[in-house]
Amino acid sequence: MSRKVILVAGTPAEHSINYSYKDNKRDFASKTYNYAVAILKANRGIKGRNSFDVEIVDYPVTRKMDNLSEGQIAEILNKSPVAIGFSAYCWNRHIFENTARSVKRENKGVKIFLGGPSVSYNPVDILKNNKDIDIIVVGDGEETFSELLNHNFKDLDKVRGIVFRCGDSIIRNPKNNNVDINNLLSPYLSDNYLPNSDAIMIEPSRGCIYRCKFCSWSKDRKLNIKNKSMLINELLWSYERGYRKINFSDTSINMTNEQLSIISDSLRLSNVYEKLSLSVFMKYDRIDETQIKMIDGLRFDEIIIGLESINDAVLKECGKPPFSREKFERIIKVLGEMGNKITISIITGLPKDSYKGIEKTIKYLEELINKYPDYINFVCSFWLAILPGTRFEREAEKYGFKYLQKGTPYLVSSKYMSAKELLRVADFVYRETEKNVKFFCEEYYIELLEGK
Ligand code: SF4
Repeated sequence: MSRKVILVAGTPAEHSINYSYKDNKRDFASKTYNYAVAILKANRGIKGRNSFDVEIVDYPVTRKMDNLSEGQIAEILNKSPVAIGFSAYCWNRHIFENTARSVKRENKGVKIFLGGPSVSYNPVDILKNNKDIDIIVVGDGEETFSELLNHNFKDLDKVRGIVFRCGDSIIRNPKNNNVDINNLLSPYLSDNYLPNSDAIMIEPSRGCIYRCKFCSWSKDRKLNIKNKSMLINELLWSYERGYRKINFSDTSINMTNEQLSIISDSLRLSNVYEKLSLSVFMKYDRIDETQIKMIDGLRFDEIIIGLESINDAVLKECGKPPFSREKFERIIKVLGEMGNKITISIITGLPKDSYKGIEKTIKYLEELINKYPDYINFVCSFWLAILPGTRFEREAEKYGFKYLQKGTPYLVSSKYMSAKELLRVADFVYRETEKNVKFFCEEYYIELLEGK
C-alpha cells in the first residue's frame, strides 16, 4: 500500500529561479522557494514516528493560471499518493482549489488538505465552497501535519488544529498552540534540504509584535526567537554547502533587543558572517544606540525597511507609528556609514492616501537616494492587497475597499482613490522605475498598465 504524501508548493513565477523579468520591474524577493513545505517535511515525525514518505513538488504559478496543468496533475497522481497537501497563499489559492477538483475527478480516494495563511482565517467557508478539499490546517502546520500522518489521515477528530469535512458536516477541532520554533527540526540540518537557489532562507524568529492593518502575520502571535546554536548551525551548514546569500525570512530582526542580540551574536559566533551576503528586515523606529552597538562590525548587504508612506494620517490608518524624518535619515546615515545597504519599501493605495500623497512620498525618496546614493540599494513599490485575516479585510466596508477576488486580492478602488486615480498612480510609479534605476515595482503595476 502506498505511504506517500505529496506537498505541493506554487511559487510565483516571477520569484522562481530562471524566470526572466524586466530589470527593476519586480519586487525584492526575486529568487525564492517555499520554505513552509520544507519545514513541514522536516518535522513529519515530531509527534511520533511514522512510515510516510513525504515528497515536495514546487510549480511556478502565474496570475493568469486557473489550475495546474494536466501534465503536472498527472505527475502528482503517478506517484500514487495517499494524500496531497497544498501550501496555499493568496496568489495560488484559487489554482489549488481548482486543482483539488481535477485531482478528485481522477482519484476520489486521495485526501486533499490545504494549509497556509490564506486558508487559516476562513477555513469553514473554504470547505463549504470546495467539496473536493477534505481538510484545512489552521495556523502553524508542523505539529498538525505530523499528527495527520500519525493518524493516517483517519480519526480526524483527534487531530488538533484542523477543520475537516465529515460527510455533510464541517467540523472544527480545537486550535493547536503556536509552535515553538526551537522544538522544530531544521529542514537543512535534519533533511539536508538543498534548495535550487543561490540564496538560503533562514527563519531566525516567528511572529510579530506589531499590528499593521494590512498584514495578517501578527494575529495571535508572540515573538518566538530561534536559539543561538540552531542559528549558528544553519549558517555554518549553508556556508559549507556553498551558499553565500542568506535571506533572514522573519518579519524583522530588531523588534526587541533580546531578538537582535541573539541574532547578531549568532552571526558573530558562526565565524562565517563576513563571507556571507545577508539580507534582513529591520524596523527603523526601533533602532537606537543600544541596537547600533549590537550590530557594530556586522555588515548587511540588504536591510529592508518597510516605510510604506511618509504621510502620518496614512500611517496611523495602517496602525503604524508616525514618520520621523529626522530619525529615519539619521538611521539611514548611521547604517550606511557602517557599510550596510538599505532597501526601502512603500505601499500604494493605502487609506487616506492620494495621488498627490504618493507623489510626495516618492519625491522625498528620490531626494533621499540623491543624498545617500551609496547607502540606498533601491526603493520598491508594492500595490496594496487586502489579505485574508487582516484588519483591512475585516474593515473593507469602512474603507470602501474593492479588490480582486481571484489571485492576490489587489486593491481595485477605495473610498480614497478611484480605480482611475489608482491607474494614474501605477503609471506614475512605473515611469519612476523607467527614469530612476533605483526604483522598483511589483509586476502587478505592469499588468495593470497593460490592461489599460
Ligand atoms: S507588516 Fe511587518 S511589522 Fe507589520 S504586522 Fe506585518 S510582519 Fe509585523
